[in-house]
Amino acid sequence: MSQTLFDLSGRVALVTGSTRGLGRAMAEGLAAAGARLVINGTDAARVEAAVREFTAAGHAAEGAAFDVTDEAAVVRAFETFDARGLAVDILVNNAGIQLRKPMLELSTAEWRKVIDTNLTSAFVVGREAGRRMVARGRGKVINIGSLTSELARATVAPYTVAKGGIKMLTQAMAAEWAAHGVQANAIGPGYMLTDMNQALIDNPAFDAWVKARTPAKRWGKPEELVGVAVFLASSASDYVNGQIIYVDGGMTAVL
Ligand code: NDP
Repeated sequence: MSQTLFDLSGRVALVTGSTRGLGRAMAEGLAAAGARLVINGTDAARVEAAVREFTAAGHAAEGAAFDVTDEAAVVRAFETFDARGLAVDILVNNAGIQLRKPMLELSTAEWRKVIDTNLTSAFVVGREAGRRMVARGRGKVINIGSLTSELARATVAPYTVAKGGIKMLTQAMAAEWAAHGVQANAIGPGYMLTDMNQALIDNPAFDAWVKARTPAKRWGKPEELVGVAVFLASSASDYVNGQIIYVDGGMTAVL
């Protein structure tokens, strides 16, 4: 198989929430495959630090600090990319938050915050990128789902609803954009070692449950998403549309 199938040289990739965690690992993987990275997060200092680290590692990278829930800021960011001739070929809708609380105690504001950050943002950023990709006749959108794209779990209702929505948003994007040469797909990570899960990692009972429930008997490492991310960002996936690929150590495969 030709190496060029997975080559991302000359492509520009925007990964939302790429200062840390899964977004950072996927951004590093896309950069190693040749892509020029646009690093994003809400914390401008963290974005600048990440750009410095990417550049020091020999990768082409620049920063775009904005909040994915701020529609005006998203629109402005894409206008700035346009003005600079920066065409986003690959979008990874990764930025997300978690909020653990029983539904009976959850406020509507808390519900909306999780839905806005984890689902509506993927529509808004996806629409801005998608308009330009459809006009150019090519592009790759990778949405980040979760085990909760398939299965519910107590105390994370809005997250579950948002991630279920991510699966269907991915199919909706494929339905409208596939004919224009734009592939939209999703990745569903299992339980991964990131800041988002630190309280769970530190909880011996939860840690034991993850290890027992996962066929691979361990947590996932952020860099283990890179293979699928590069595949979905590259021409190797040009006839793959509207799919969600689980990288979960087998958790969704077994009872
Ligand atoms: P982290 O909390 O480790 O990192 C989150 C990243 O998103 C940071 O870079 C953060 O930057 C950024 N971010 C958060 N809110 C916003 C916002 N409103 N606008 C722009 N950037 C934002 O999360 P993970 O790496 O663990 O998770 C990344 C994605 O993967 C999420 O969508 C999550 O739901 C999903 N996921 C994670 C799993 C896991 O086990 N960790 C499992 C399945 C899915 P800053 O602090 O600067 O805002």
